[in-house]
Order: sequence, then C-alpha cells, then structure tokens
Amino acid sequence: MHQFIGGEHRSGTSGTPFEVLDPSTGDVVEEVLLAGPEDVDAAVGAARAAFGEWSRATPVERATVLARAATLLEERAEELARVESRHAGKPIRLAREFDVPGTVDNTAFFGAAARRLDGMASAEYSGDHTSSIRREPIGVVGSVSPWNYPLQMAAWKVLPAVAAGNTIVLKPAEITPLTSLMLAEVLTEAGAAPGVVNVVTGSGPVAGQHLVGHPDVAMTSFTGSTAVGRQVMATAAATGKRVHLELGGKAPFVVFDDADLEAAVHGAVAANLINAGQDCTAAARAIVHRSLYDDFVAGVADLYRQVRTGPTDDEATDLGPLSSRTHLDKVAGMVERARADATVVCGGRSPGGDLARGCYYEPTVVSDVALGSELWTDEVFGPVLAVVPFDDDDEAIRLANDTEYGLAASAWTRDTYRAGRASREIRAGCVWVNDHIPIISEMPHGGYKHSGFGKDMSAYSFDEYTQVKHVMHDITGIARKGWHRTVFTLPG
Ligand code: NAP
Ligand code: MG
Repeated sequence: MHQFIGGEHRSGTSGTPFEVLDPSTGDVVEEVLLAGPEDVDAAVGAARAAFGEWSRATPVERATVLARAATLLEERAEELARVESRHAGKPIRLAREFDVPGTVDNTAFFGAAARRLDGMASAEYSGDHTSSIRREPIGVVGSVSPWNYPLQMAAWKVLPAVAAGNTIVLKPAEITPLTSLMLAEVLTEAGAAPGVVNVVTGSGPVAGQHLVGHPDVAMTSFTGSTAVGRQVMATAAATGKRVHLELGGKAPFVVFDDADLEAAVHGAVAANLINAGQDCTAAARAIVHRSLYDDFVAGVADLYRQVRTGPTDDEATDLGPLSSRTHLDKVAGMVERARADATVVCGGRSPGGDLARGCYYEPTVVSDVALGSELWTDEVFGPVLAVVPFDDDDEAIRLANDTEYGLAASAWTRDTYRAGRASREIRAGCVWVNDHIPIISEMPHGGYKHSGFGKDMSAYSFDEYTQVKHVMHDITGIARKGWHRTVFTLPG
C-alpha cells in the first residue's frame, strides 16, 4: 500500500513491482507496487476535489492543521528517523539531529507563516478606486522530489503549498518513498481533508512525467538534477503551467589567506561529507589561497582518514553509503577519470570487509584539479572534495563563479571587506561567511543560474505557491466617468 490518495493508503495499479533497498547492505526494505498514470489521475482528481474547501479555509484553520502536524511529527520522530536512515542510507545521527528536527521546525514555521500572507496596503492609488491585493492559491500543485533528503524535500514542497491553500500531489524518488508517505499520513491525521496531500510513488519517466504534464495540475515544483529539471520544464510548457525548479549545485568554498585555517578545515569536512556529499549545497570545490593550500589539503585529508564509515544504524557512524549502486558507480567513475590530471590525496575507493555489501565510498580529497575538467565542472554528489589554489582575490571570485551552477557558496576570511565583496560578487542563492551548510526555516533556499529558480522555505516560498490578484474597486459611484472621454465622446 504505497500510494496515498484521497486520504487513504492504496496499492499502485501499474503492475510494476519495485524493491526499496537499504543501500548500506543491499537488503530489501519494502516491496512497492509502483504508481501508473491511472494512480496519478486519481491523485490529481482527489486534489482537485479538495481544492475548493481547502483554499477557502481560514488562515487559522490551515495554521492549526500544520501546528498539529508538527506535534505529531515530533511524536513519531524516532520512527521517522529510522525509516529515513534505512531507505536513504543515512547515518542515524544525521536523521535524528538534522532531517527530522528540520522537518518538524519547517512544519511549525509554515503553521505560523500561514497566518502572515501579507500584501501591500490597500489604498486609493488612482484617487477614485480602492486598490487591494489578494494573494490566492494556484490550485493543484504537482511536485517531484529527489532521494537525498526524502523527508525534508517532501516537506519543503508540501508545506508552503498547503499553507497557502493549494492542494498537492507529490511524487518522491522511487528509491526513497517511505517517509513522504508518512508525512502525508501525518498531515491528514492532523486535519488536512482527504485529497489535500497525496503521494504517488512511481518512477520519474512514468508517474513523474504524467504528473508534470497533467492538464489539471496548475503548477509544478521540482527538486532534482539540472538535466531532469530541463525536461520537466519542457513537459510543463505544453500545458503552460508555472514551474519552480530547485536543481543541482557545485558550491565553491573559498579560503582567503587571512582565514582561520582550523575553522576552514573543520568546516570543509562537515560541508563536504554531510549526507555523504549528496547535498545540493555541499562544499564541492575548495578554492584555497596558495599560502594555506598545502596545510589545508593535509588538514582535510588527516580528518578524512579519521572519519568513521560504518553501518547506518550505529550512532557512532559519521559516513554512510551512497544512495544506490548506480550512484556509487557514477561517483567512483568521476574520481577514476580525474586521476589523469589531478592528485587523489586520500580515499578514491570503496571500503572492503563488511561494508563492501553496501554502496560505500571513502571520503576523498582530490587536489590540483584541472580547471575545465569534469571534476571541476560537474556535480559529483558524493564525499569528494576538489581543491585548487589561487593567488589573488580577483582570481578567487572568478574561480568561485566558474560554474554553470549557483546554489550556494562560502567565503572564509577575517576581513570584513573581503567578506562583503565575496557576498556581493559570488553568484549564488546563498553565501555563507565563515560557515557552510546551516539552513533555517525563516530564510529562503534556491538557486541562481542553472541551479534553478524560485525559493523553498521562508515566506519567500509563498511567491511560488500563490498568485497575486489586484482588485480595483470604484468608490465614486459616478456613471459617466471623466476617463471615458479618452475612449468615446458623445456627440453634442
Ligand atoms: P533526478 O534524477 O533529477 O530525479 C529527481 C526526481 O525527478 C525523482 O523523483 C525522479 O524520479 C524524477 N524524474 C526523473 N525523470 C523524470 C521525468 N522525465 N519527469 C518527471 N520526473 C522525473 O535527481 P536525483 O538523482 O533524485 O537527486 C539528486 C539531484 O537533486 C542532484 O542534482 C541535486 O543537486 C539535486 N537537488 C537539488 C536540491 C535543491 O534544493 N536545489 C535539493 C536536493 C537535491 P525517479 O528517480 O523515481 O525515477
Ligand atoms: Mg532517479
């Protein structure tokens, strides 16, 4: 029963079974019957039927559902963390301390934000009419999410959409559907009417594509790779729907010569290895001043050799597996090809022994990466840090921007002017100064350039999930208005 449609768990009707695996062992976690186009149609139908009432619910009614959901999620925190850890291959510590609390906080935030959908003040801008702004929901939202943070990505899509009065059909990545189903169940238990939140678990090319192209879906919000994002945009174009895309990243991590080296080294390890590097904002390219370069590379490599790679259910594990065998092969292939024109300082292989059953890859530092090479330009999405040196500030900024992506970046310096310049000149949706990774519900997340457009989290996400209506109300009661003369003048 892996479809959640109209408030009920159902079985998919595609006839295609799919095994959800634990990437740390290769064991089957659950067998799913995937959704086919009929299941998507049923979910869109349920969302459409629920839209009228949900869109007319008062802000406080929607806020109450979300506040209750936050409490229910907290009550189920341990269960959510375990399921998330198992099917996404996350160390349990990360699931417990990051994924689940982040989702609870997001839910509470959107509960509060549902009551603050502010617009500009009503006023008589023309002198003769009162102009006011209505922020209205769009309709049925069709969302597609990735496997790296299944619960958080589902929450980032579902919460602002329903807080603003839309109804939603979410298609999670087929390899990680379980916690998205739990989120939909919790929201429904919290009081969202059947059909407000629906989840179809199926493949991208079948269920995802059908959802994006559905004529009754008014908007698509997508998080995933840039390549699939472009396809999604093309599919959505046929029905002219609104699109919100959160795509790939290749974040620069710029260490200036006055940086606190210890902070930068520890920061790089955390920011590159979080979620085994399968994080769209992960530090991917360390751009380090030549005076600190050797010490930085040696410092990161030293910590990488101490990282505890292990079973995901072990509280002591720092680094879990990659999400799938296919993804492991992709990451390993990129590092192998980089050996031709760069130096693999540590890692660069999968661990043996018990871990060989899983999709593990050792934390890897690659130094002197060739500019323009695949490791410099393409998203690895694994525990691999590419490092290059620079000589002056102009070069550092140029290298930081030498990417088609623009999701996130960081600058490490104790000089306030340098920090200010980097914050202004690095073209990315988020620039951290002397840190890299922290996210907060109140602030927006979203890309520049080929990392997409539109914002997740924060009140800015309401710009994606609402449309603005101008209501202009005549207050004069004059039948023959002065401005009519511009269009017609009665004879005589
Ligand atoms: P992906 O391969 O692009 O897949 C993302 C989702 O799209 C999955 O649910 C996938 O379904 C679905 N899909 C595939 N083809 C489709 C199609 N033709 N039409 C509609 N949907 C389709 O990405 P991923 O490998 O899951 O996730 C990793 C990527 O996500 C990275 O590039 C990462 O940077 C990006 N990401 C971005 C952000 C952000 O906020 N900007 C956050 C997290 C991740 P199936 O896999 O089930 O077939
Ligand atoms: Mg996929």
